[in-house]
Amino acid sequence: MWQTAQWGKPQNAAGAICGIIVNVTTTWTEPGSTPLALLLLGQGTDANAERGVDCPGVLPAPSDPDLVARATAAKAALGTRVFVLGHHYQRDEVIQFADVTGDSFKLAREAAARPAAEFIVFCGVHFMAESADILTSDAQQVVLPDLGAGCSMADMAALAQVEACWDRLDELFLAGSTVPVTYMNSSADIKGFVGRRGGVVCTSSNAERALRWAFERGQRVLFLPDQHLGRNTAVRQMGIDADDCVLYDPHKPGGGLTAEQLRNAKMVLWRGHCSVHGRFTLSCVQEVRHRVPGVRVLVHPECRYEVVTAADEVGSTEYIIRTIEQAPPGSCWAIGTELNLVRRLANEHPDKEIMFLDRTVCYCSTMNRIDLPHLVWALEELVAGRVVNRITVDADTARYARVALDQMLALP
Ligand code: SF4
Repeated sequence: MWQTAQWGKPQNAAGAICGIIVNVTTTWTEPGSTPLALLLLGQGTDANAERGVDCPGVLPAPSDPDLVARATAAKAALGTRVFVLGHHYQRDEVIQFADVTGDSFKLAREAAARPAAEFIVFCGVHFMAESADILTSDAQQVVLPDLGAGCSMADMAALAQVEACWDRLDELFLAGSTVPVTYMNSSADIKGFVGRRGGVVCTSSNAERALRWAFERGQRVLFLPDQHLGRNTAVRQMGIDADDCVLYDPHKPGGGLTAEQLRNAKMVLWRGHCSVHGRFTLSCVQEVRHRVPGVRVLVHPECRYEVVTAADEVGSTEYIIRTIEQAPPGSCWAIGTELNLVRRLANEHPDKEIMFLDRTVCYCSTMNRIDLPHLVWALEELVAGRVVNRITVDADTARYARVALDQMLALP
């Protein structure tokens, strides 16, 4: 049954403006169970459910008309002490304050190339801020404006689960002939795990090179955490038989695979996926081709195998941007990636017809947790001498994650 209950005093200016909403918590109660509070963004903390979404201090209201002026003033006050990174999937209200935009790896490298910036404000998601912390100096502090900005894909591979998988390979005497490869979209823990075992990190641009490198060193690859990027690269780009790819489900005993299946596999794909790119289906491609004759379908390799094989072009976020920039005027594109980026491309290229591949809205909900109020809050706190939402990776994890990242940079 749905219930509403009083939940404490307004904590800040936002609370005062939205007092009625902030003061009320809506809960769903199964008969005989404990009520689950649905926390409003930026208000309150449930340590058992999330990393923490509380924002101590004054979180501006989303309707505050002065937010743009406040962000501009805070950034100006900080000057070169702050460097703001904006991922391509961020909303426009945040991107306008980014000193540089890019995909996750480009942004981490941009941060590392700015040693003079004391504060790196990362408008992206948690694993990206971790990578920035790994690649920047100890003197630089990385800030994620909203700690709730995680990544559903990265969260699908927890360290304990991956260690259990490796133990299983070890029991079967397969670990020595297996090379772990992890996608950039994974936690620092997982990158560290891979670095410790002689593996490599990859991006959606260099996954094929990473796999070729790995197969020169072992008979099989454990690919984390995105099954689609792993399968698309192995089968579509490298010609590996789909039957040589098995899916390891961390929620099933032994990954749901027999010893023989693991022994015979070339690719052990982790059962993870992107909740945004996983939404595009083959019927989306068929529907747009039927509706828009001559349309070219351009998708990200995090999409499912059947979507990628039905598309005209497949590539990373940077590839998608480049393809649209170089496309002739009048050309028509249906793009299968995050909606903020597709909308921005459509606005920036009015001479081309650009549409979203799915007919329903498909934002990255965690990326969208970074909004202007949170950016203003993070910047103003820095101006006041307080570092909020700092993201740090412990030295041991960072060391081995860096090994796997450096190995990626050294790929032939
Ligand atoms: S788009 Fe997908 S992979 Fe990227 S941050 Fe969102 S959930 Fe993670």
